[in-house]
Amino acid sequence: MLPSAENSVGIDLGVEKFVTLSDRITIENPRFIEKVEKRIKKLQKQLSRRRKGSNNRGKLILKLQRKYRKLRNMREDFLDKVSTAIAKQYDTIIMEDLNVQGMMRNHRVSKSLTDVSFYAFRQKLEWKAAKYGKNLVLIGRFDPSSKLCSNCGNIKHDLRLSDRIYHCEVCGLIIDRDYNASKNIRKIGLIKVGLVQPESTPVETATSGL
Ligand SMILES: [Zn+2]
Repeated sequence: MLPSAENSVGIDLGVEKFVTLSDRITIENPRFIEKVEKRIKKLQKQLSRRRKGSNNRGKLILKLQRKYRKLRNMREDFLDKVSTAIAKQYDTIIMEDLNVQGMMRNHRVSKSLTDVSFYAFRQKLEWKAAKYGKNLVLIGRFDPSSKLCSNCGNIKHDLRLSDRIYHCEVCGLIIDRDYNASKNIRKIGLIKVGLVQPESTPVETATSGL
């Protein structure tokens, strides 16, 4: 199937809300996964304080391995369900590309737990899009999907990570940050595959070099 703007969706991935779709649907990170992740971080902290070769350390490692297995299974299940639902629902699916190599090199846990989910999700989405004959479009990670106003194209350079609401001083738009990003991701993706004409600046500047 050729990509089409109709029935297309932009996906923004996040920590609190796992996905925000450009048609306003959000899917939260499941609580039970969060709980196990927290437990794992705690165990790792404990482990770092144990002496190498000690009995307690061995027990802790086993415990940690069990928790990891549990987390992996729960996450697989969750990601399977979400990616299947999206691949079935939409014909053209647009998301940001992820820096896989950087991710694999990053062994620091707190961040990598989320990264692993993002990467696994993208991979599943790739398989499922192929399976259902849908199009997956990846856009550059450095496209300013968060800072761009989805209404007027203004770029808000001072947007902070903690700003959950995007407020555009130019057109007055007040919108959920992730929802704004997902709309931009959709638009940038559609421009990339030639389905939407880029507007004059600044959207054009934002998407040049793709
Ligand atoms: Zn605006």
